[in-house]
Amino acid sequence: MMLICNNCGSNVLDNMEHCPTCHTFVGFPNVRAAERKEEIDALESRYQQAIKAAEADGFHQCLKSFEDSMKKTCAVINVDLDYLQHFITTDKALYSNYSLQVRGEVRKPAMDQDDKARRTVESMLFGSYAEEIRYAALSLDGAGLRSYGPYAMKLREIAISKRASLLEDNSYHFIEKHNIRCGKPIPVGYMSTWQERYKLAVSKLADRISSVTSEEEYARILLLFSGGDRKTDDYIEIHIYGSFDNRAVESVRGKSSAGKKHEHALLATVKEYLVKAGKEWIEE
Ligand SMILES: [Zn+2]
Repeated sequence: MMLICNNCGSNVLDNMEHCPTCHTFVGFPNVRAAERKEEIDALESRYQQAIKAAEADGFHQCLKSFEDSMKKTCAVINVDLDYLQHFITTDKALYSNYSLQVRGEVRKPAMDQDDKARRTVESMLFGSYAEEIRYAALSLDGAGLRSYGPYAMKLREIAISKRASLLEDNSYHFIEKHNIRCGKPIPVGYMSTWQERYKLAVSKLADRISSVTSEEEYARILLLFSGGDRKTDDYIEIHIYGSFDNRAVESVRGKSSAGKKHEHALLATVKEYLVKAGKEWIEE
């Protein structure tokens, strides 16, 4: 079903952000994809099934408690110290992504196989707007994926909530798990808008919640990071349309004692900037 521009009546393709005739903004394509009726219905049905199963097992209250926590989740992006220092202390810096950095010759492409896999997965999920997507992870406690760097930047909800969509797994895992082939449709019920992210979390994780699950365990049930191997990380992936500057960062979480001596000085300047900008440093 194609979108009709409410200004001029032209047809707008699913992958376009603006009407091709009058350039009226028609919504972020990734969010529109998550808002399609078949997506919403499929997710709702998985969510209701999860609740029913919990009721049958007598875990309904436990699942309700988990769901309430999932409504308070946030978006985090992990980075290394060099990047953190550059981004936090440079007001003109914009958070970019892999494709744009390679195209702008700011960085080298990844190893050949990784580069191909990354571009293939991105184009299968997003097609022509893949370059607009920035990736984050859904977190309950502000901790993120250490395999991408030891410092977790928590993003302000207002900066992303209207342009973020969520996918049940890391994109690579998702494509593999569902055996999705090039040009074939993406199975429905595994993505959500920001507002409905708790339904995605409940649908994915309900069978890990029982009467013996304590609230302290919720954060690691939602986001399981490994010692550094990205392949074993398990989390809900956030897709953010477009870039953002350091004003989108609410807080940074990490360990002050990590790293070498010269890195401690670098981190100290980052913390100074954070305090000056009214952002929080959260010691891990
Ligand atoms: Zn138009």
